Amino acid sequence: MKPPFEIKGIKDFAYITSRKLPNEQGEKSGEVFMWRRKGEEEFNYKLKCPYCGDEQESSVVFKRRPYRVRCSNCGKSILIEKLSKK
Ligand SMILES: [Zn+2]
Repeated sequence: MKPPFEIKGIKDFAYITSRKLPNEQGEKSGEVFMWRRKGEEEFNYKLKCPYCGDEQESSVVFKRRPYRVRCSNCGKSILIEKLSKK
């Protein structure tokens, strides 16, 4: 999955990640690209749902861990694991 924008300077981002997402069988059929710009509260994400394959783009403000996003197509909750800098 390509980022929905061109990353010119990583310093503009408070958080940025790209990871594969497993489905119920443990197959990594989904993918998420998530980022938050400095000074913004919202996380933006591009998601390919591992359960139904739907692709969507949205934003979310996380209140507490673990961070989860909900697929707007199949309604399943998707856990974003280890949302921290490596
Ligand atoms: Zn889905």
